[in-house]
Amino acid sequence: MICIPITARQNSEAIAELKKASKLADIIELRIDYIETPDLEALLKEKTKPVIVTNRPKNQGGMFSGSEENRISLLKKAASLKADYIDIEHDCVEAITDIGDTKLIVSYHDFDKTPGNIVEIHNSLTKSGADIAKLVTFANDIDDNFKVFDILNKTDFPTIAFCMGEFGQISRILSPVFGGKLTFASLAQGKESAPGQLTINDCNDVYGLPNLNSETNIFGLLGNPVGHSMGPHIHNGAFRDRGVNAVYVPFKVEHVSPFIGGVINLGIKGVSVTIPHKKSVMEFLDEIDPIAKSIGAVNTVVNCNGKLSGYNTDCPAAISALERVLNNTNGEQNSPLTGKNVVLLGAGGSARAIAYGLKEKGANITIVNRTYERGVELSNDVGCGAMRFEDISQLKIDIIINTTSVGMYPKIDESPLDSHILKEGMVVFDIIYNPLQTKLLIDAKNRGCITLNGVEMFVNQAALQFELFTGQKAPIKLMDSIITSRLKN
Ligand code: NAP
Repeated sequence: MICIPITARQNSEAIAELKKASKLADIIELRIDYIETPDLEALLKEKTKPVIVTNRPKNQGGMFSGSEENRISLLKKAASLKADYIDIEHDCVEAITDIGDTKLIVSYHDFDKTPGNIVEIHNSLTKSGADIAKLVTFANDIDDNFKVFDILNKTDFPTIAFCMGEFGQISRILSPVFGGKLTFASLAQGKESAPGQLTINDCNDVYGLPNLNSETNIFGLLGNPVGHSMGPHIHNGAFRDRGVNAVYVPFKVEHVSPFIGGVINLGIKGVSVTIPHKKSVMEFLDEIDPIAKSIGAVNTVVNCNGKLSGYNTDCPAAISALERVLNNTNGEQNSPLTGKNVVLLGAGGSARAIAYGLKEKGANITIVNRTYERGVELSNDVGCGAMRFEDISQLKIDIIINTTSVGMYPKIDESPLDSHILKEGMVVFDIIYNPLQTKLLIDAKNRGCITLNGVEMFVNQAALQFELFTGQKAPIKLMDSIITSRLKN
């Protein structure tokens, strides 16, 4: 169930928000501590959904600055006006008596950390006279969420539990999967009542939160940063389209080891892997697919009954996009890449994945990288040539692939290459997808080249992940339209 907190400062504004929120959420929380002089009669008269009344004092992260006596009497008044729930902090629960049919939520908040003794804290909440225990802590790392999920997994007592903060955001999405009674979402951006709260639109449209349940399989993106990833949009859209009961969330992870512990313990079914963990995750896997092993990087992990397998879908994703542009006909024995002279700009993670794929297809590859020595190192690993930027004009080139981040948003006026290198008929592939048309691709088009942006590679790698995750064919057209429409806006 989703609860929207009302954080308006005036009664009239709060009533308007209450009406709006009642159309979107299962429960409404009236944060009367935000309202200067709350008119409880007027507010509760408007309720069409169950309402929690909360009057949080300043020392517990709230806004109420009056006397304790006044604070408690407002809560009692809310109960007498038939509020469905009142929320009281764990250390003053004795002050609440005679509340009739109104149910009591006894809450514990820690705004700095997830304390080591949260199991005991939860136990004491369950014995406090609460109808519902509410345990909200601050996550300083991904595994703080796992401690909270563990409590939800083990308890039979009605419990609301999640973590605040950026690291804790996933717990707001996943707590219903582990049996949490409800999760909080803001009515709109800027209306959050606590750090890390998602908007109701993101909860519904991106994560499909109302449909999550104990049978939902969990997937996600392991990386840091992960905040602006397209992964949740593309994968959740694909799950929904294929009727798969699954959710994909961004896991912001600093340390891979405890995260992998959580993947096993909580039965997380699979993750995409991005910067900076594509290499470091490998030591935790039970088996690694031969392509990923030779590349030395994994971008997909599948958990099959506790056995973790690693794959690299970047490599086949880029190669199949290129082959399509080169008009590979089905059944042809040789790839259209065979014998082509390819200049690969960059020597980072994606260059490594693409270089191995090109090598396998029999292309003649030259690595050109800003840090020449790094380019030479990759060329030695792959078994191909390396060159400095200033020498490129000596080469006969069929295909140029940009794997550097030059030209990526926001520095969209930059190009990794002087346009005089670009010749009519060349294929120019920029793996950047934001913007859709980089300066390199615009220059290339103007000079009569065949161009390809990074969207198809991105969609292909996500589609291959979807197939590894679910065993089903990916809705590739839908995935493409999700990404393209997000990038156009
Ligand atoms: P990476 O491992 O950090 O490698 C970055 C590469 O860019 C290095 O070779 C680096 O050269 C070079 N570089 C950075 N700044 C440069 C500059 N100012 N001038 C010249 N070269 C520069 O990154 P990555 O994971 O390979 O990703 C690279 C790009 O590919 C990103 O834009 C990313 O968004 C995109 N990407 C797209 C897809 C897709 O599916 N379409 C997938 C993965 C990545 P040095 O060695 O000299 O530092």
